[in-house]
Amino acid sequence: MKYVGAHVAVAGGVSSAPLNAKAIGAKAFALFTRNPSRWTSKPISEKEAEAFKINCRENGYLPECILPHDSYLINLGSPDEAKLKQSREAFLDEFMRCSQLGLTMLNFHPGSHLNQIDPEACLDRIAESINITLDATSGVKAVIENTAGQGSNLGFSFDQIARIIAGVNDKSRVGVCIDTCHTFAAGYDIAVDEGYEAMWEEFDRTIGQSYLSGMHINDSKKGVGSHVDRHESLGKGAIGARLFELIMNDPRTDNIPLILETPDDTIWADEIAWMYSLQK
Ligand SMILES: [Zn+2]
Ligand SMILES: [Zn+2]
Repeated sequence: MKYVGAHVAVAGGVSSAPLNAKAIGAKAFALFTRNPSRWTSKPISEKEAEAFKINCRENGYLPECILPHDSYLINLGSPDEAKLKQSREAFLDEFMRCSQLGLTMLNFHPGSHLNQIDPEACLDRIAESINITLDATSGVKAVIENTAGQGSNLGFSFDQIARIIAGVNDKSRVGVCIDTCHTFAAGYDIAVDEGYEAMWEEFDRTIGQSYLSGMHINDSKKGVGSHVDRHESLGKGAIGARLFELIMNDPRTDNIPLILETPDDTIWADEIAWMYSLQK
């Protein structure tokens, strides 16, 4: 079963997310449970959390099809002690919100060394941040997203993600989200069949297929290896249509959320329908 959806808006409250997903024919969705560009956000009321759960149930969205995304401000590998503390507190709050909403995964960008500490030290710091959060919570998996490697963002190679996972004590509560734009921009040429196969082979060899917990489905404005994170609508960027046909006919991507983060939300319904039309 393929669960294709998009990162939907939550204007008016998180309970609107499943309704917004349903309106575009999505079988999965992503959302922010707090303002992604602010450090503080008011708590979700019990009433709103209940409405979210009811809307998910009534529209057929199980927790395994819902991939919440954390705030962009959080840097779990920050070289600055005060910022690291602030990030860990916000990350814990994100986990608690997921629990409150009955969700089982939280997708996040690993972190950045900001050219102030070694990449390895930063990766170990990220693993420690995950351990601290997992120790303080239950039921929610930490889903690490691969990055394009823009600036000092880590997690652009599978080796780096494997190093983070190696440092996590509870391996049953860590997963990986593969963003197709980031993967391509990081240098994996998944636009062609051989490159697509080679990418999954490396993923399985270094990380392990069982860690795959979700995907972000995006084309890329920039070329392979550009290290620039600029999403494009499906089939309109440097990756092109073939990748999405491969994904839709690949059992490795069954039963996980496949989430569009493409720039034109007015065509998401068409893009989702197009994805399903690629299934043979
Ligand atoms: Zn993404
Ligand atoms: Zn991106």
